[in-house]
Amino acid sequence: MSLDLSTTRFAPSPTGRLHLGHAMSAVLSHDFARARGGRFLLRVEDIDPGRAREEHIAGIEADLRWLGLHWDEPAVRQSQRLPLYAEALERLKDQGLVYPCFCTRADIARSATAPHGPEGPLYPGTCRGLIAPDLDRPHAWRLDVAKATALAGPLTWCDERAGIVDARPELLGDVVLARKDAPVSYHLAVTVDDATQGVTDVIRGQDLFLSTHVHRLLQALLGLPTPGYCHHRLLIGPDGERLAKRHGALALADLRAEGVDPESIVAAFRQGRAPLGFRLSED
Ligand code: GLU
Repeated sequence: MSLDLSTTRFAPSPTGRLHLGHAMSAVLSHDFARARGGRFLLRVEDIDPGRAREEHIAGIEADLRWLGLHWDEPAVRQSQRLPLYAEALERLKDQGLVYPCFCTRADIARSATAPHGPEGPLYPGTCRGLIAPDLDRPHAWRLDVAKATALAGPLTWCDERAGIVDARPELLGDVVLARKDAPVSYHLAVTVDDATQGVTDVIRGQDLFLSTHVHRLLQALLGLPTPGYCHHRLLIGPDGERLAKRHGALALADLRAEGVDPESIVAAFRQGRAPLGFRLSED
C-alpha cells in the first residue's frame, strides 16, 4: 500500500498525437500531486492493438517534457499488464457477472430493440442468457449490469466539481470488458490500473464522466478502493467545436514546431483559463 499523500496519473492512449485538452489533463493531474507532495504517474493505454503506435508513445513523452512536466517512475504500458486484467475478468466470471457476446457492430446497429443511453444505443442484450455459448467462436465479454448492480447495491463517488454522485452504470448498459480483438477494454484496464498503481485522485476530462459510473461498479465488484475524481471542463475551439483528436492541426507537436511558448499554455491552465483563443466548456 502506498503511503503517499496523493497519487495522480496521466493516461493517454497512443492512438494519435496529443492536443491541448490532453495538456490540460496532464497539467492539472501533475499539479494536484505536486501540491500535496505526492506522485504523478504516466500510464500508456496501449491496449488497442489496431490503433496504438510506438511513434505516438515517443510523442507523448516529448510533449510532456516540452510542457515541463516530469513523471515519477518509468511509464507503465497497459499492453504489459494483460495478466492483471485477465485475473480481474476471471473473478467477474466466477461471480457470474459477465457473459460472452458474439454480436458484431453491425448486428447491434441493426437491432431495432436497442435502448438508447446518453452516449447512443445501448447493447440490446442479445447474447445475455445464451445456454451453451460456443467459446471457440470469436467473442467479447460483457458485464451483466443489472445483475452486477443488484449484487453491489447503491454506490457513490466523490467528484470535485459534481459533488457526491450516485453511480448509475446502467446508463452505459452491458459494457464490453474484454474485446474480440483485445483481451481487455478501457473500463476494466483503467479500473484495475488505478487501484494497483495506488492512484488516489483521478483527474480527467468531463468527456469521461459517464465512464466513471462503470468504473465505480467495477471497483465494488473487484473489492478495489475508490479514488477521488475531478472531471475537468473541456476546451472549446474558436469555431465553437469541442477539441478532439481529429483537429490534427492543434497537436502539441505542431505548436512546439511553430515555436509556441509552452509556459504560456501551462500558465493559462494553472490560472483556470484556456490558452490560444480557446475557451472552457460551461459544464
Ligand atoms: N486513455 C483515455 C484517453 O486517452 C483516458 C483514460 C483516463 O484518464 O481514464 O481518453
